[in-house]
Amino acid sequence: MLDLEAYRHCELCPRRCGVDRTAGQRGFCGESAELRIASIGAHFGEEPPLVGCEGSGTVFLTGCSCGCFFCQNYQLSSEHLGEILGIEETVRRILELCPVPAHSCAGSPVPAHSCAESPVPAHSCAESPVPAHSCAGSPVPAHSCAGSPVPAHSCAGKSVRNINLVTPDHFWPHLREIIRQLREAGCELPFVWNSSGYSRVELLAQQAEIIDIFLPDFKYASPELAKRCMGRDDYPEVARAGIRLLVDRKGFLRPFDETGEMAATRGVLVRHLVLPGEVENSLAVLDQLYEDHGPMLPISVMRQFRPMPECLRRNQFTRLVSDEEYSRVVAHVRELGFTRVFIQPDCGDENFVPDFRHAGEPFKGNAQRKVRGQRVEDRG
Ligand code: SF4
Repeated sequence: MLDLEAYRHCELCPRRCGVDRTAGQRGFCGESAELRIASIGAHFGEEPPLVGCEGSGTVFLTGCSCGCFFCQNYQLSSEHLGEILGIEETVRRILELCPVPAHSCAGSPVPAHSCAESPVPAHSCAESPVPAHSCAGSPVPAHSCAGSPVPAHSCAGKSVRNINLVTPDHFWPHLREIIRQLREAGCELPFVWNSSGYSRVELLAQQAEIIDIFLPDFKYASPELAKRCMGRDDYPEVARAGIRLLVDRKGFLRPFDETGEMAATRGVLVRHLVLPGEVENSLAVLDQLYEDHGPMLPISVMRQFRPMPECLRRNQFTRLVSDEEYSRVVAHVRELGFTRVFIQPDCGDENFVPDFRHAGEPFKGNAQRKVRGQRVEDRG
């Protein structure tokens, strides 16, 4: 049952606004106690072990407690696009992505037809006829379903690989109940907590009890940069403490199969978005991650930044990350000796820039079943 108590004096993130969201009050994240969702669907814009050829069952939540002005999903964090959805409807729509055997519905609060409509039983891509190959150590762009000889229909109609909750912290009470109902309905997929990194450690400890995979950002090592971008200078210490706890509780992402053939089932992958003109921040982020976790920590160093409308209004971050800037960051990855690294050879496929006005499919790239342009850093 949904427990609304945490919304009455909301302290679900480090901003601790203390507003009563059940009374319609809104704090920094801009959301009341009604669950609002912008999109639910199979998404192919994540790292290969999370996507494979089945896709990641991604739930984009509206609002954000981090609120960086350059947010690549500003339509959700600033414009609050999304639809108010009840728990039952949300569960039903997620189950459409991860069909479960009909008998699993027994005793579930989910309407029986949710499973009866399922086209195929849940499966793993490991069972699929995808040819085996690996890009480890290869100089070619890494594996993705894009451009691969894998027929697009190989996994068509089958279950997604995981349930991926994007920017979830401010709706934790709803999501806890949704996860409970999905498990009760027979959904056995891993749950992914895909967050900004600006999370309360106490709540992460609760979340780690039921979430399988964590994808925290580590955006800023510089308190000044954090203050400029999101209005808080405590981001570095908060994010660092949170990642420490998560690695302690869940370990590193595993299995770590850079080809994407084996689905990741558990653990932590830390993401960092390189910002134009802020290479020193990226280098410091890498230093701190190395200091805390060593070179085996799986990391994703992203180059996909694009200037969003607020960047132009503020005249900050008005360009892409340059080759030279990204090369410096990747060179530091090499110097530190990180071995499980996703990098982006270019600033990404425009087809994975979302437009959430098209809630049915905000990413053109998903229709083409592509994995975001990424490769695994050379182990050499
Ligand atoms: S979740 Fe929203 S209302 Fe609650 S403390 Fe964070 S920003 Fe404030």
